[in-house]
Amino acid sequence: MKLDPSLHKTLLQLATTLRTQNANSAPKTTPEQEAVDKAVAELSRNRDAASAAQMAVDDMENEILRIQSDERKLRRRKKDGQDALGAETDEERRRDLNHDVYTAKSRIADLMSELQEAHNEIHALRNNRDLAQSRVKDTERKVADARAAAEAAAAATPEGEDPAVVIAHLEEKLPSEALAEFHAQRLENGVGAALFNGRSCSGCAMVLPATGISDIRNTPKDEVPQCPECGSYLITDIS
Ligand SMILES: [Zn+2]
Repeated sequence: MKLDPSLHKTLLQLATTLRTQNANSAPKTTPEQEAVDKAVAELSRNRDAASAAQMAVDDMENEILRIQSDERKLRRRKKDGQDALGAETDEERRRDLNHDVYTAKSRIADLMSELQEAHNEIHALRNNRDLAQSRVKDTERKVADARAAAEAAAAATPEGEDPAVVIAHLEEKLPSEALAEFHAQRLENGVGAALFNGRSCSGCAMVLPATGISDIRNTPKDEVPQCPECGSYLITDIS
């Protein structure tokens, strides 16, 4: 292949970029991103749990309000009965009123024990909700930390340009004949062009025989020699 020596490095960059692009074609998730995804899923579960815990507290608060309202009604009934008893002289009416007052008192006693139980329960439910909410806060911090770590990791390994753009840019620099020869070779062995380190071809990793090496060395500067083993165009000078 004829190629101006100043473009040998460009050809190698093109070959390398094409190989890297293929190797990275399936986007890999970084461990940092996996940690973010895990923390986000955990946060979502903890938020569900916290909202269920809050709902249980709300239900129990409504239950307490219901008991208190029933209790007020019964106390009114009891008082009305007692007031009526004070003015009633008829024995039969007095027996009915006494019965009403007794029933109200015993219902009130029941409600008071229901209320006590509800207060105990709401105490436990509120503790449970507070715990669930503090778990949400912990997980929110975890998500924030994981995101910061992922961003730091992404900043430490710059993505660089879109490989397609880099490839197009490199191809523009190369003469069309050389580019066609390179692509033909790349179709054949999947490499196209590779670095020659003076002993072996980095395309096929073969240590070349002495004659092959001297042929490569004797190739004119404006030509690119080929690996006698795999046919890759060998770049000998990347300075
Ligand atoms: Zn080779």
